[in-house]
Amino acid sequence: MLLLLLLLGFATPSFGTTYHFEAESALRFNTIISNDTSGYSGTGYVTRFDTEADSLLFQFDADAGLYELIIGYATTQTRKGYELTVNGARSSGMFSYSGPEFMEHRAGKFILNQGTNKITIRKGWGHYHIDYINLIPTTLDSLKKPTTQLTDSQISLASVSLYNFLIANYHTCILSGQQDLHDIKYIKSVTGLEPAVGAFDIIDYSPSRVAYQSDTTGVIDSWIEWAQTGHGIVTVCWHWNAPTDLINKKGKEWFRGFYTIATTFDLEAALADTTSDRYQLLLRDIDAIAVQLKRLEKADIPVLWRPLHEAAGGWFWWGAKGPEPFKKLWVILYDRLVNFHQVHNLIWVFTSDDQHEWYPGDDYVDIIAMDIYTAPSSAMTGEWDLIQRQYNGKKLVALSESGTLPDPDKCRTYGIWWSWFAVWNGSFIREIDKNYLKKVFQDKDIITLNELPDWRKY
Ligand code: CA
Repeated sequence: MLLLLLLLGFATPSFGTTYHFEAESALRFNTIISNDTSGYSGTGYVTRFDTEADSLLFQFDADAGLYELIIGYATTQTRKGYELTVNGARSSGMFSYSGPEFMEHRAGKFILNQGTNKITIRKGWGHYHIDYINLIPTTLDSLKKPTTQLTDSQISLASVSLYNFLIANYHTCILSGQQDLHDIKYIKSVTGLEPAVGAFDIIDYSPSRVAYQSDTTGVIDSWIEWAQTGHGIVTVCWHWNAPTDLINKKGKEWFRGFYTIATTFDLEAALADTTSDRYQLLLRDIDAIAVQLKRLEKADIPVLWRPLHEAAGGWFWWGAKGPEPFKKLWVILYDRLVNFHQVHNLIWVFTSDDQHEWYPGDDYVDIIAMDIYTAPSSAMTGEWDLIQRQYNGKKLVALSESGTLPDPDKCRTYGIWWSWFAVWNGSFIREIDKNYLKKVFQDKDIITLNELPDWRKY
């Protein structure tokens, strides 16, 4: 009820003041005031976020309500991550590269208390300047329905039904998901419930792993069995081991071959010559994966297909040479699977971040997803608002990977309706408090496997 009252309150805000606080007037912990870089507001800016303890604290009185937090900043080298705490709730975010200019960053929406409020900015990646913050009264965005058309004109009926089901439920509930079968079983053992979405990785079918005898015994079969037993929804990512040029030394072993640091494979060079051995090896790998995806298609299982993820981070070889080679590879992959191999059970999921120039385009992407690893208390409003702005609400948005469970109370409060979430495997899910895990899976707006309707009828 409290939440409802708050939400009603936000629809017609009685508050109306924008607050502006200069960083140089805030409380500093091991950070310094500088005015070396010009273009700041007030009398300077705060910088030297060098250690985890270095921070900046804004403490102020405000009228209660929902506000958008704007941070005036500069980051003169590249984009830089930061950490944020608003009245005890931690989150994190990314400052885009600003060059020599000071810029404004939209950090998300936050509820301020009547009376005292505290906002702390902590190092994260460091190497940025903070000029000021603004808090602007705001409301929740109106909900938009995404496009209903999938990119593949010959897409399977089951895939269309799945997509229609996702659209029908978007903004009303969130499908629970989990990476890997053994962690799906773990969730069942703790909560008695299974996630509606099984998230899997086709990694070990990469030919350069098969060459090292990666164990693929029964892997696809186990996904098919899981999907057919409980009518669960399948999403598959691909940690694509580089086709060749694996370094295979300590710390850069063959099984880390999807990491940029573990291979010398140069995507840009490979794409530059379509007759080159390395270009042909890219196609060989796609062809090998097509065989496996066909097995899922033959079983009439739609796949929320999420290849080439987190490209803009650069830590995977497919993102190491910038957006142009990446987008080229995405289109080659799309064309090879859909048009050449005629794989028609794939709903194409692009994992996006703050750098929109990596987007392969509406003709090749059906759903947008984000991989977010942040503090458990984060509502992820900054990330959600960014993605709604970037895609103007025209694409369904999912939380394809996370290190934490989204909090359903915060999702309702802030209107953050991920189509589905999937927590990453191992310690990420297992270190989550078991009572909290139960609470989330039992929540009325979090859909578990037993609550899934027959989505094939949509
Ligand atoms: Ca300032």
